[in-house]
Amino acid sequence: MSDETLPMISTVERRGLLLVLSSPSGAGKTTLARQLLQSDANISMSVSATTRTARPAEVEGRDYFFKSEADFERMTEAGGLLEWAKVFGNYYGTPKAPVEVALKDGRDVLFDIDWQGTQQLGGKMGADLVSVFILPPSGAALESRLMSRNQDSEEVVRARMAEASSEMSHWPEYNYVVINSDLDESLSALRSILTAERLKRERQRGLEKFVRGIRDSL
Ligand code: 5GP
Repeated sequence: MSDETLPMISTVERRGLLLVLSSPSGAGKTTLARQLLQSDANISMSVSATTRTARPAEVEGRDYFFKSEADFERMTEAGGLLEWAKVFGNYYGTPKAPVEVALKDGRDVLFDIDWQGTQQLGGKMGADLVSVFILPPSGAALESRLMSRNQDSEEVVRARMAEASSEMSHWPEYNYVVINSDLDESLSALRSILTAERLKRERQRGLEKFVRGIRDSL
């Protein structure tokens, strides 16, 4: 067998992984998530359900599934959510079905969820979970990002600043921590994490067959 006909390592069948990004609001997590999705065809975003009101630029089904409290409660009672939590007075939760399908197909899923959701996912999904905590470079940077975002009322911004410190205390529960001083560097760090995690032996289910193929050809 010539080298050209050997499958590339990236085509070896593997189990998908769940990449969780958490951070206090304003640390740049949403931008990083968007850029990571754009730069990698094998990972897709988990779209959460929420009882929060949509912000002006947000699109139903792309950013969130916007639900009434009654509908959200029905989803939790029917077991349709993999995890859920109350954040800033609103409910947020991860629909279960798309995650299960993706994992089975060997595709990766990106989550933008808080520490409560990450703990629940860790309990349910175990080794499939890779968690990254994004920290701002300083308190001042966090504050200015929150103020300039201009999507929330002043009252909400103040509440989020107050929450940021307690959210940040959860960094030791994560596998990786990225300090987001520079967007490009942080994106490159995230891509490195993803690459290394994909190459973990136990995720590469197709390796045995792959190596057998090589050995048989020798
Ligand atoms: P935002 O209202 O700014 O979109 O999100 C507020 C917080 O809720 C963020 O920290 C975000 O990570 C978290 N969040 C968004 N979706 C989910 C979810 O499905 N589950 C959990 N546990 N947290 C979520």
